[in-house]
Formats: sequence, C-alpha cells, structure tokens
Amino acid sequence: MKRILTGLQPTGCITLGNYIGAIKQMVEYQEKYESFIFVADMHAITVPQDPESLSFNIRNLIAIYLACGIDPKKNTIFIQSENLYHANVSWILECLTPYGELGRMTQFKDKSKKNKSFSAGLYTYPVLMASDILLYDVDYVPTGQDQKQHVELARNIAERVNKKYKENIFKIPEPLIGKHGAKIYDLVNPDKKMSKSSDNPKGVIYLMDDEKTIRKKIMSATTDSEMKVIYDPDNKPGISNLITIYSVLSNKTIKAVEKKFKDSNYGEFKRAVADLVVSVLIPIQEKYNKLIDSKKLDKILDDGRDKTSLMAFEKYDKLKKAVGLHR
Ligand code: ATP
Ligand code: MG
Repeated sequence: MKRILTGLQPTGCITLGNYIGAIKQMVEYQEKYESFIFVADMHAITVPQDPESLSFNIRNLIAIYLACGIDPKKNTIFIQSENLYHANVSWILECLTPYGELGRMTQFKDKSKKNKSFSAGLYTYPVLMASDILLYDVDYVPTGQDQKQHVELARNIAERVNKKYKENIFKIPEPLIGKHGAKIYDLVNPDKKMSKSSDNPKGVIYLMDDEKTIRKKIMSATTDSEMKVIYDPDNKPGISNLITIYSVLSNKTIKAVEKKFKDSNYGEFKRAVADLVVSVLIPIQEKYNKLIDSKKLDKILDDGRDKTSLMAFEKYDKLKKAVGLHR
C-alpha cells in the first residue's frame, strides 16, 4: 500500500466546505492508502495564536475528524509537537537549505506582506513541512494548489541531501492532486468561497452549529428571483451552491437533483437541503460529543505519538550520522 501524509492546521472552526472539500476525500483515501494524519500545531504558531484556543483546537480537530469517519485503525494519527524529531530534522534541513530558496515561496511572500512583524518561523515553515513529509518515507502528499510549491521544495531538499551524502536517506515524495472535491460557496455571498476565516458567520455552516442554526442559515441563503431549481453557477450562484451541497451529501448527480426538485419552489428546496445537512451533521456531532473528553481519543493520540516517534527517530539518526553529528 502506498503511503500518504496529511497535516491539519488547528485553527478556526471546521466548516461544511472543509467537510465536503477535504474531509470526505480523506475518508475515501483511507481505503486506498496507508495514511498518516497529524495536527500541524507547530505550523500554527508561525502566526500569533491564543494559547487557550490553540490547545482546545488541537484536541477538537482530531475529535471532529474521527467523528467524520476517519478510522483510527486505518490511519496513524498524531500531534506534531508531541513528536520531537520534526523540529530536530527541520533544524538540520534548514542548515542545508539556501536562504534564497525560501524567499521564493509564494505563501511566505503573501503572508509576510499582510503582517509586517512576521516571525522567522513563517519564513522557515516550508522546511518544517519538508521534515514532516520526509520523516516517514511517504509516497504521496495530498495537496491543494496552495501547498504544491512546498511539496516541490521538500522534493528538492530530499534530492539535495541524498546527493550530498551519497546515501538514499529520504524517499522522494510526489504531490497528490486529488480529483476535485466540490467547492462550496458562502451562503450569503455565493460569489465567494465558504471559509473558516469569514467575517460573516451567517454565510458559513460550521460542523458544530446546532440544528436550529443550520436550518436558519440555509433558509436565509441568498438565491435569485427565477424560482427554478437549476444548476447555473454564473447566473444562479446561490441555488447552484445549494444544489452542489445536496448533490454531494446525497451522492446524487447534479442532474438527478435538478430533476428531483423540478417542481419545487425555493422554500421547499431549501427545506430539503436543510433536512439533508442536518441528517449528516447531527450524527457527526453526536460522535464528536462522545469522543471529545474520552480516554479513547487520548489513547489514539498516545499510540500515534509512540509509533511515529520510533519511525522518526530512525530517520533522524540516519540524517544526523550522515551530517557528522555523532561521537
Ligand atoms: P481559511 O479561511 O483559514 O483559509 P478554509 O476554510 O479555507 O480556512 P483551509 O484550512 O484553508 O480552510 O483548508 C482546509 C481544507 O478545506 C483544504 O483542503 C481546502 O481545499 C478545503 N476547503 C476549504 N474551504 C473549502 C470550500 N469552501 N469548499 C471546498 N473545500 C474547501
Ligand atoms: Mg483556505
């Protein structure tokens, strides 16, 4: 089985967009790949974080993923900061990475422009990401377009190190650009993507919203005056977005959804979308509530930490010796 690795940022509240665009895909990947999932908490602190919310989010995130169907038997799940070798390997790799190469990372350029007093960690972040990937001999790294350059960097670093020390220390990973998960739009401004960091919560369905809130948000979603449930993203972005949501969550094609609601008015259609979203999210929330304070969650994370620490130690030791860091 080929091996994949996914890092999750423990920031913000998970949205229906994240669920449909990312989590559902990971649930499919676990059948096909040996999968490693970690909470990228050390990445999160490259920008300022409130300690209390960060700590809450770390645990919260894993509980949500498990509740959404990530199976701890099929995935190795751990918290980055609990495995000490990520930072150690990252330091050695930083010393083997030209300064200029990191300055070319577009995400760094964007984020440093937005915040004038950015940290040095924001600059070296992609090398930490390279160690995350290279520690576990992964075959693929599932990536969106925004992270593709960082996976390229990890490849470059791995190739350079292997060549320099004339040893196959690192496996060269490939980016895995998945078949596109559907993109979900904001319910109030359907021209813009639904985002965790949106400033208007009315347009965003959070996985932990209660039933009443979910229904209210969907019933007030922006539509148009045509009163026809037809998929036409350019002219009817609001209705098309609701059709997409219905289609993904019911495993029906867009065509089949149009057909099912061809005689419905918008109120009826929205009620059906709300019923479906509620029927998917409520069971997830019930599982989440059972997990969040459970020993089971701790056991999964302890096991993940122990297993990956052993694996990572071996890689670290090999690299350390190659570089000459030994007696
Ligand atoms: P932020 O506003 O902080 O960027 P976000 O909601 O965009 O948050 P990310 O952490 O950037 O979430 O992305 C997590 C995953 O969710 C990524 O794989 C991303 O492609 C996916 N994703 C995010 N928003 C959507 C969306 N509206 N529709 C589909 N997939 C999405
Ligand atoms: Mg985003």
